[in-house]
Amino acid sequence: VRKKLGKLKKTPAVTRDGVAIALLANIELPEDCAAAMDAGASGVGLFRTEFLFMGRGSASKLPSEDEQFEAYRKAVVAMKGRPVTIRTLDIGADKPLDMIEHNALNPALGLRAIRYCLAEPRLFLTQLRAILRASAIGPVKLLIPMLAHAFEIDQTLALIEQAKAQLRDAHKKFDGAIQIGAMIEIPAAALALPMFIKRLDFLSIGTNDLIQYTLAIDRVDHEVAHLYNPLHPAILHLLSMTIKTGERAGTPVSVCGEMAGDIHLTRLLLGMGLREFSMHPAQLLAVKQEILNSDLSQIEPYVRKILRSVEPGMIGDTVAQLQAL
Ligand code: PEP
Ligand code: MG
Repeated sequence: VRKKLGKLKKTPAVTRDGVAIALLANIELPEDCAAAMDAGASGVGLFRTEFLFMGRGSASKLPSEDEQFEAYRKAVVAMKGRPVTIRTLDIGADKPLDMIEHNALNPALGLRAIRYCLAEPRLFLTQLRAILRASAIGPVKLLIPMLAHAFEIDQTLALIEQAKAQLRDAHKKFDGAIQIGAMIEIPAAALALPMFIKRLDFLSIGTNDLIQYTLAIDRVDHEVAHLYNPLHPAILHLLSMTIKTGERAGTPVSVCGEMAGDIHLTRLLLGMGLREFSMHPAQLLAVKQEILNSDLSQIEPYVRKILRSVEPGMIGDTVAQLQAL
C-alpha cells in the first residue's frame, strides 16, 4: 500500500524482507539540517563545507576557525545526536572560491579538493581543528574528498594528528576516536580500494565525480551532458566492486552522489548490496517508499543480470523491469 510520503517520516527504512537501510541527508549549510530532520534523516551523510567558503567576494577572507566551528556546531546540535559527516573543503572545478585565483586549463583535473588542502596546510589545519572541536559536541565523522594516492591519505592523516595535537595544547576538547573516511570518486580510488580500506574507517562513493572521471565527461558541460550515463557498464562495475569489497572487509560504504537520491536507481543500488544512501533531503521519503516496497531476494537476480550485461539497451530494460516489480 502506497502511503502519502509525509506519513513515512518516522517509518524505519526496512525492505520487505527485513533489511534495514540507512537514509542520510546531504547538506550545504547548517540551516539545511531542519529539512534533513523534517525528512526523518538518520544523520548527515555529506556536509559540503565549501559552501561556507563560497560567494563571499574576492576581497573577503576565508572563514576563521571559530566561524567554521560555529557552523559545524550548529549542524551537530540541529541533528540531535544523529551522526554528522563533515567533508573537508572540496573547492576548485565546479566550486571555485572568489578569493583564490583559479586558472587551470582543466580545473577538474587540477589542484582541487584535498590536493588544494594539502598544498595549503594552514588553511586545512584551521578547518580540521574546527571540525574536531565540533566532534566534542556530538557524533561527527570526517570525510576527505578526491583522494587517489596512498601518500595523500597518509599526509591527510598526519595533518589530522597535528590538528589534534594543536587542540590538546590549547586545552580544547574533541573526539579522539573520530572516524575518518574517503570519498571514492576517482576511478583509481575504486580500483585500488584495499589501499583505502587499510587506512580508513569508512568510504562514501561520490557518483557525480566518479561518472565525470570514468567517462571523461565534464559534469557541467551541457554539450556532453547526453554522454553522462550512470548506467554505463563501467560505472556499474566500479560501484558494485566498491560496495562488495567494502562489505567483505567490514568497512562501511555509502553512496552520496546524485544516484543515491534517484528513485529509478534505488533497487539497483540495493541489489548491489548498498545499505547506506545519502541524498538531498527532498528525495529522502520517496527513496524510503521505494525501499519499503522492495524485496531484496526478488531484486538480486535482476541486478546480477545487469552486472553481467555489457549491452546498454539490455541494462536499461532490466533497470526498468526492476522498478516495475
Ligand atoms: C560527488 O562527486 O558525487 C559528490 C557527492 O560530491 P560533489 O557533488 O560535491 O562533488
Ligand atoms: Mg565530488
